Amino acid sequence: YKVNKAQFVLCAAWKSQWPENDLPEICLAGRSNVGKSSLINTITNHSKLAKVSGTPGKTRTLNFFNINDELRLVDVPGYGYAKVNDKIKESFGDMIDTYLRERDVLKGLVLIVDYRHKPTRDDIEMYEYAKYYEIPVIVVATKEDKLKRNDLKKNEKMIKQVLDFDENDQFVRFSSFNKTGIQELWDAILKLC
Ligand code: GDP
Repeated sequence: YKVNKAQFVLCAAWKSQWPENDLPEICLAGRSNVGKSSLINTITNHSKLAKVSGTPGKTRTLNFFNINDELRLVDVPGYGYAKVNDKIKESFGDMIDTYLRERDVLKGLVLIVDYRHKPTRDDIEMYEYAKYYEIPVIVVATKEDKLKRNDLKKNEKMIKQVLDFDENDQFVRFSSFNKTGIQELWDAILKLC
């Protein structure tokens, strides 16, 4: 898949601000600092589309990006950032909850996890959440470049086990640094759109 056009559309804190539901959407979630912004920039071949965060967890809105006028990527704020207070955490949860439950053009969730580590409690919750609402998931294990060859299979197995991975879902190995997994991820996304 070739991205010719990648464009920021808008950011939305409320449902009333979502763009018209005329294109399929794929949302991307992951804990703060997992490499989500880098991934968005890498797969769109656009070095500044999503800001690589100086302050993790700062954006508290859904950010919509138009890809080739064919689909939208929706950047969900990084979760699990300790410094936001409970009130913000709550409304942040509501915002994502409303989006996942009510967005009829939503075709799937890209859940980004760190290939080196066990998925966190938040990762597990996010995955279970998607399963509960019957949203197909693409689990992306990023920072693959940090792994030794021998650990690739082992960690994939570990991540799937911790998530209680549904074999109907897709798993993609990825690295923004080495630019690996880009086509695999697009294939997985297009399959859902
Ligand atoms: P976000 O908070 O999830 O949007 O994460 P960022 O994209 O801002 O990245 C967080 C940190 O991880 C930065 O220091 C990045 O340079 C680093 N990072 C992102 N992707 C990769 C990757 O594929 N490999 C490695 N080794 N580091 C990465």
